[in-house]
Amino acid sequence: MAQNNFILAQILAKATSRPALENTPFPRYVRYLKSTSQGPGWDLGGEVPTAFGRAFLSDGRMVEVYTPLRSLVDYLARRKDIENGLYQLQGGKILALKELLPENALENQPREMPFTLSLGKRLFCVVPLKNNLGETFGYYVREARVSYLKNFAYALFKRNALPTIFFLGVALVIALMLTRHFVCIPLNNLHTQLTRISQGIGKRLREAVKEKIIEAPGNDEISALARTINQLVKELDELASFRQAIEMDETPLEIYHRLHRVLTSRFGLSNFVIFEISNSQNRITPVVTEPPHLLEECCLRDINQNPKLCRVYRSASRASSLHFTETCEYFRHKELNYICLPLCVGGKVIGIIHFLLPMEYALKEMQQAIMDKVLAYIKEAAPIIEAKRFAESLREMSFRDSLTGLYNRRILDDLIPQVAAGIVRRESNLGIIMFDIDHFKILNDTYGHSFGDKVLAKIGDIIRFQLRKSDFAIRFGGEEFLLLLVDAKPGSTLQVAERLRQHIETSAFVFEGKMATVTISAGVAEFPRDDTNLWNVINFADVALYRAKAMGRNRVVRFEKSFLKEELKQTDEKKS
Ligand code: GH3
Ligand code: MG
Ligand code: MG
Repeated sequence: MAQNNFILAQILAKATSRPALENTPFPRYVRYLKSTSQGPGWDLGGEVPTAFGRAFLSDGRMVEVYTPLRSLVDYLARRKDIENGLYQLQGGKILALKELLPENALENQPREMPFTLSLGKRLFCVVPLKNNLGETFGYYVREARVSYLKNFAYALFKRNALPTIFFLGVALVIALMLTRHFVCIPLNNLHTQLTRISQGIGKRLREAVKEKIIEAPGNDEISALARTINQLVKELDELASFRQAIEMDETPLEIYHRLHRVLTSRFGLSNFVIFEISNSQNRITPVVTEPPHLLEECCLRDINQNPKLCRVYRSASRASSLHFTETCEYFRHKELNYICLPLCVGGKVIGIIHFLLPMEYALKEMQQAIMDKVLAYIKEAAPIIEAKRFAESLREMSFRDSLTGLYNRRILDDLIPQVAAGIVRRESNLGIIMFDIDHFKILNDTYGHSFGDKVLAKIGDIIRFQLRKSDFAIRFGGEEFLLLLVDAKPGSTLQVAERLRQHIETSAFVFEGKMATVTISAGVAEFPRDDTNLWNVINFADVALYRAKAMGRNRVVRFEKSFLKEELKQTDEKKS
């Protein structure tokens, strides 16, 4: 500041040059020096701050020049963070005393009152310095750190912008009211309703989904948002219901049928096949076909026997002819398009849904959205299908005899009531054959135990070949078998048993380079003809079997009631 004061005084000393002072219209600012010892300087104290310097008049007298700096001082009072810079005008040009601004920056600027100067991104406040003739002899310049808001407000007041302010205020109030009505209140409602939904998720949500969860009466953006949320919640709820339903389903097949209903009724899809990939991963089998007459073999036959040929199976990702027609070389119908979606669990493909589409079909935004939703349902279904398949195979394994592949006797507890009820309901007949291999111990002793095992396995094959799909073959004990012939004609079971006996008798059992012949003895009974309790009838077949053994083996005996009395008599005799 002190340095600037000094510079200012120097400027004043130069500025108040002789010709200028001679014509001064402001004599009260000019007074003769009482003493020449007084040097140039300035004084900011007092009522009217002044700056002063010395100059010589034409008659050789020295004058002391006072110049009012009111405008500067006013400015200084307003701006507390002033850094001064002084610029002098000489011969109409600006002489920079401080290299704060380019030399020509202040040219062509108003010289009457303080003004603002912008250079690049920097702003400067400029105060003209005047001598006692009112001439600008220099500038006081400082870089301003401008508050744009303050400047704006200042400019408004200065230009008497009160009406503008008033109208701006009114406009602001109206804008606020409109915002509140169209944005704040609906958003608040949305928030309240969403909070209510999140608190009442579950039963109340389910009830709400039947209606509209969030009210969305208008055509504005917020109502549109509410409708989107309604739709989203509805779809999530449907997906959750689907999941709940398939979790309750007993078999994978029931889930496939439910998925089929979703695809047809919910998404309006037709012409598709749901394929299941076997647990051993070596077969693809169609499980659901829509419509039922749709050719099941969409792909070449080889692929059904070897899933590894299928790219969807290999890559565990979708394949489609819509993006590239030659994607799959095993697709048979070149006149159609296709999309194949995998059912994946942990990266393993357990099934594939194969959609057949017309040639002109294009995957537009809507169809793409449907496919994405279908994928969501598939993702829900796949792990549950896999879990049911696993449970089913475990159950199946526990009921299977590993040597013959037939059921073991553990299945009887489940099977007997079910089969008996079916026979009674249909007023039908169940044929029961109990048979046992003759002298199997000798066969084991002669040819070895592993040979005996192979004989048992082959007998298992013969039974499977002889019986109908609806019949049940059970390995009842070591070399004893129970056959249940469902809906067998009364009297026909005896013939089936005889045919089986003959088949086994005439079969050659050749293993390990050795050959043996095998005979069986069989007992036959019928339900409900012999008794209305199926367990009893099975026992009767067993009684008949032992009668066949007693009669010399390699024969079939039909149970008769008299066997029971005789058996009783024999046991009594043994006791006595
Ligand atoms: P019978 O004509 O009176 O039925 O004489 P059998 O020798 O067949 O009857 P027995 O009950 O004396 O012997 C049954 C034999 O079957 C004894 C047992 O070692 C054999 N056996 C039972 N289960 C198996 C099996 O899983 N594999 C083999 N190799 N033999 C078995
Ligand atoms: Mg035996
Ligand atoms: Mg036996």
